[in-house]
Formats: sequence, structure tokens, C-alpha cells
Amino acid sequence: MEALYITGHTDRYHSWETMSGYQLALLEESGLFRVDTLLLPAAVTEEPVNFSAYDVVILNINDVQWPSPWKNDFEEYIHRGGGLVIMHEADNAFPEWEAFNEMIGLGGWGNRAEEAGPYHYWTKAGWVTDNQTPGSAGHHGERIPFVINLRQPDHPIVKGLPMQWLHTNDELYGNLRGPARHMEVIATAFSEEQSGGTGKEEPVVFTIRYGEGRIFHCVLGHTMPGYYDALKNRGYQLLFQRGTEWAATGHVTQKIPAGLQLSTSSPTLREVKPQVR
Ligand code: ZN
Repeated sequence: MEALYITGHTDRYHSWETMSGYQLALLEESGLFRVDTLLLPAAVTEEPVNFSAYDVVILNINDVQWPSPWKNDFEEYIHRGGGLVIMHEADNAFPEWEAFNEMIGLGGWGNRAEEAGPYHYWTKAGWVTDNQTPGSAGHHGERIPFVINLRQPDHPIVKGLPMQWLHTNDELYGNLRGPARHMEVIATAFSEEQSGGTGKEEPVVFTIRYGEGRIFHCVLGHTMPGYYDALKNRGYQLLFQRGTEWAATGHVTQKIPAGLQLSTSSPTLREVKPQVR
């Protein structure tokens, strides 16, 4: 499969270099993708990007602008059946781009507030869409371990994984807002108030359909230079690899590794040698 990895610029709270090193290594490890890398903002020109040459586009960017023709081409690419992967702060990007916000379902920060759409969270009674509560979009508490709870265990991205496992120290995004149309929540996690969280069961892994396109959105994976605890988590690694394949094709052929141990008692970690661009 052909993948386009777009990176090169993010906000001052994150490290695109760190994230791209690990994500590119994970794509290579899967053996499924031939990857082109596009580094922004140097590569932002009026020259078109041939998105349609790719099965999937992975965005590891924030605080960067795209020229209008890129946006138009990208919307058409996804609408016609392209694949898109959004991890962690990539859902902070492009707050003013309406179609992008449709594609990602929910977003945070970037001055997003009520007009971005309702809050969405999970309760035992089901999915809550909150149009009433005012406030900004995007929140996280301290970086602590938290349990991932599957809500759609038969979805191809997670089929065969345990219903729960412990994720490593990470920012648990909450209070995201967005149109959330054609969205399916695959996993949630509880954001504890005593560590500065929202007190809600927040969506952490979800998919969105935009036209014929498939979007895999996972809020896990905070990075800073030299800090990448979340990316060592075996669950994160499998979600990224399997979610990217699903976004590209609608199927997942990767096997769950034999002897995989994911539990709620301690996080399962595995170092990956980052790929140097
Ligand atoms: Zn972060």
C-alpha cells in the first residue's frame, strides 16, 4: 500500500520529530506500506500534492496552514474513498477548516468552542451529546496511566484485543467538540478528576466516514523531545498499525502477535528503534 506521511511542523507543546520517528518505524515494521514523507512548512507551495496516489494519509502536524487548492484536493481525495489517520495533537489542527472538522469528528484547542459542535462522552446509559454546556474544546489532566475500555470489540481495528488494558502515562484528551457525524466510538477511557481530568468517560479511539473515505482517529500519544512514554505502549503501537491499515483498505490483515499480554495491572511496553528520516 502507498502511504503519505505529512509532518514537519507542530505546536510548541509537542515534538513532531519524536512522533514521526516512532510512527514511521511502526509503519515499516508492519511490512504493509511504502511511505512517502512530506515535510511542512517547507513543502507548502502552490504545487499540488497528488493525494489520490495514496491509500492513506497520516497527519502529524499542527499550527500550519495549507493553501486552498491543497484543501480542496484533500477534501475530494477523502470524499472519494481516501484514508486518513489522526493521532493526538493532529486533532488540534485547522480549527477553521469545516471539512477537516467533519473528517476528524471531534477536535480540541485552536480556540475551538461552542461553534465547533457539542461535547461527546460516554456514560453507562450510552453516548451523550451535550449541546448545552458552554466552554472551550480540549482538556487534559496530569500524564498518568489509564485504562482503555473497548466499546466495539468486534471492529476490525481491535478484534482479538482484550476488552481493557492499561495505557502508559499519557495526556487523556477530554472535552473535545465537533460535529461527530458518521462517527463510531471504538474505545473510551475514564478521565479522573483527582488528577485534573474531566470526570467523564472520554472517547479515545473512533472512526469517521466522510463520503467514501475512512478516518481513524486516536487521541493517544503525547510526545516531547526525548519523551515518548505513550508510544512505547504495546496497545498504542497496535492501534496505530491496525488503524492505519483499516483507514487504507477498510480491512485489517495484521495478526495479533502470539503471546501478546495486555492487562489492566501494568502497561505492556516495547521499545521501537525510531526511524531516521
Ligand atoms: Zn500532547
